[in-house]
Amino acid sequence: MKTKCSLSICPSTLPEVKRIEEMGAKRQESLAHLAQFDLWDQNPHFEEILELVEIIRQREGHRAASTFFTLHYTEAECEAAQFLRVRSCYAGFDSVRYPEQYQLSHFFEKVIVYKDKGYDRYEHVEQKLDTMTEKPPKWRAARQFCSDYGSNMVNLYCSDLAMRTIEKAGLTGASFRPVRNAKTGEPLPDLWQLWPQECEDFLAPGEYTMTRPCPVCERTRYVPTGRGRMRVRAELVPRDLDFMQVPSCYGADSGRPFYVISHKAYRLLKDASLDRSLIFEPLDQA
Ligand SMILES: [Zn+2]
Repeated sequence: MKTKCSLSICPSTLPEVKRIEEMGAKRQESLAHLAQFDLWDQNPHFEEILELVEIIRQREGHRAASTFFTLHYTEAECEAAQFLRVRSCYAGFDSVRYPEQYQLSHFFEKVIVYKDKGYDRYEHVEQKLDTMTEKPPKWRAARQFCSDYGSNMVNLYCSDLAMRTIEKAGLTGASFRPVRNAKTGEPLPDLWQLWPQECEDFLAPGEYTMTRPCPVCERTRYVPTGRGRMRVRAELVPRDLDFMQVPSCYGADSGRPFYVISHKAYRLLKDASLDRSLIFEPLDQA
């Protein structure tokens, strides 16, 4: 597992920028007033640089330095996991123009971060109708899954081929909802929304923060820190399901569910070469 930190510092004239460059971080070509870095945890000064970021924030406020952490896994790590989170890296079509599909509630909470006043924004999302679009995605041999714009890559859609492969293998917990033509309301051919079976919350406290419950559904809202693997309470994960969703309010500003698959489902997707537009994150057991 490798951790990448995307770091932006503004203004770029702050003395720490030069020190970070001296520690071997290569500055990205970008706007002159902004210093941007992609830092990997293999850099021996990784933690030292993050301490400098903290110093900047204490002195200048949180807007002066922003960090975004992502985790990158090897195939061997995915292969060894009993449960994996799955999402797509390909936004295949636009469904955001049809807000009637969702019940959406937005919330803003005043927060103080370092010495800045800010707002913590989050939302409760529930899918009420089948997804609608006018322009369905184009499948290719290596691309049989996608997400839609606006769902933060959480919603999963697939082709007939992917659906048939999952059903033929006898995997459990996957159902498939039609996606409809936004003009006629008719189901579109060769396009399905993968709808894993809803389960009780089995995420375990770990590398994310849990904030107070959602005011609409009272589910826990998880915000991943990106600094370590997410964890599940294995004893609560249903043993007979290969496709599962935890309907937690999940994510920094989105109340989207969390899709989890079994190792068996992961193996099938890999063996059938259906994994090319999917991202897998191995989950640890608490
Ligand atoms: Zn909610």
